Formats: sequence, structure tokens, C-alpha cells
Amino acid sequence: MIPQHLATRPEWICRACGQPCPCPQARVRLAAVHQETGKLGRIGYEMLELAAKELPDTPVAELWDRFVAWTEPVRQP
Ligand SMILES: [Zn+2]
Repeated sequence: MIPQHLATRPEWICRACGQPCPCPQARVRLAAVHQETGKLGRIGYEMLELAAKELPDTPVAELWDRFVAWTEPVRQP
């Protein structure tokens, strides 16, 4: 069975490709599933909340970029 691009916790490393979660493939999958419903940002926040507890040594700014920043719609100038 091909492993899915899901986080191994509490390390938050992708079990399929070994990159920090959510890896690029996971972001594509999450966006495909949640963008239409408008819940993508909320999913990002929920992951941030869990990860902040489980990765206390990681700066919040880094967690923000990793879990939330990419979920925000691209703003047109
Ligand atoms: Zn992955």
C-alpha cells in the first residue's frame, strides 16, 4: 500500500515523503478537499494549534508559515 501524505505525530513529518507536514502533496490534497467549502483556513489553524503544543521548540512564525499562510487566498493587487 502506498503511504498517504499524512503527518507522523508528534514530529509532524510526512510519513510518505519525509518532509515537514503539510508537505506540498498534502497541501494540494487538502486544498482540493477543503478550498470549495471555505474550511481550508480553519483546517490550517487546527493543525497549527496541535503542532504548537507538540513542537514547542519551533518558533510560532515558522509554524504559521507552515500551517496557515499557504491556506490564505492569493490577494490580487
Ligand atoms: Zn508528503
